Amino acid sequence: MKKISVVVPMYYEEEVAEECYIRLKKVLNELSNEYEHEIIFINDGSKDKTLEILETLASNDKNVKIISFSRNFGHQCAVTAGLRSTSGDAVLIIDADMQDPPELMKDMLELWKNGNEVIYAKRKKRKGESAFKLLSAKMFYKALNGLSDVEIPKDTGDFRLVDRKVVDVINSLPEHNKFLRGLFGWVGFKQTPIEYERQERFAGKTKYPLKKMLKLAGDGIISFSNKPLRLIGGLGIFSIFISFIILIYALLSFIFQWNNLTAGWTSIMVVVTFFAGVQLSSLWIMSEYIARIYDETKQRPQYIIDKRINLE
Ligand code: UDP
Ligand code: MG
Repeated sequence: MKKISVVVPMYYEEEVAEECYIRLKKVLNELSNEYEHEIIFINDGSKDKTLEILETLASNDKNVKIISFSRNFGHQCAVTAGLRSTSGDAVLIIDADMQDPPELMKDMLELWKNGNEVIYAKRKKRKGESAFKLLSAKMFYKALNGLSDVEIPKDTGDFRLVDRKVVDVINSLPEHNKFLRGLFGWVGFKQTPIEYERQERFAGKTKYPLKKMLKLAGDGIISFSNKPLRLIGGLGIFSIFISFIILIYALLSFIFQWNNLTAGWTSIMVVVTFFAGVQLSSLWIMSEYIARIYDETKQRPQYIIDKRINLE
């Protein structure tokens, strides 16, 4: 019998944990004459009752497995840890808040049986998300696809069904600051989208504040593109060009005495601040790359597991 593994990251999800289990279990039970299953919950350092609730579930159901982190390492690390503990032939990655309907799993499995290896869920509509979130997501995917060399489907999160073969490849990638949806695109294999309507959160608030979204966006762009670095070259040439024009103007005005040279305060300020801006923003781009190179070289683990339950 084939096995499905479900990976669910959780960060302060005490309000949804149980509902999440019930909804997942309902679908998995309906599929139980065809598939065995396991549900791997990752407690990403929540300090509320999330872990307690999960532990109760795990003590009554051996198919519920728990990985609990020593602190919050972030959604992408939680999913990474989950993927590494899966043993199923197909792996479903899903959010805990039931914004992604687990019932879609059935259609995904059909597509999987037909030979598709990554079935990614594409949001046709998004309910209950702020105009700001929708706009920022749209801009992000535009920027990302403009910059990166891999096609990263827009309106697609991490909600997807993935074949064992692809999971093994993803598990073998050692990089930190993972941007999973990009990596899933990058590895290739037979991919297909499936459309769905993104629901409202079942309960609680988003665990992705602006700061975490920006970090994710930075990881996405930096780990899938070196165009920002090349942009610095472009900026450099552009500023040489500008300074050349200023040079000619300065020489001409000196030769022909166009104006009183001591009155050059405005032009000097403009030039100095402009070039300072160009240099600092170039440095900023470089430091974003360097910071990530530094992260990689430290060779620290991507996450620390405090506790494993029902997992050897
Ligand atoms: N999450 C996590 N660690 C974090 C932030 C979020 O494991 O640091 C989990 C969260 O519990 C949820 C999923 O990642 O299962 C997506 O988070 P959320 O629904 O808050 O994001 P949104 O849907 O608002 O983008
Ligand atoms: Mg959500």
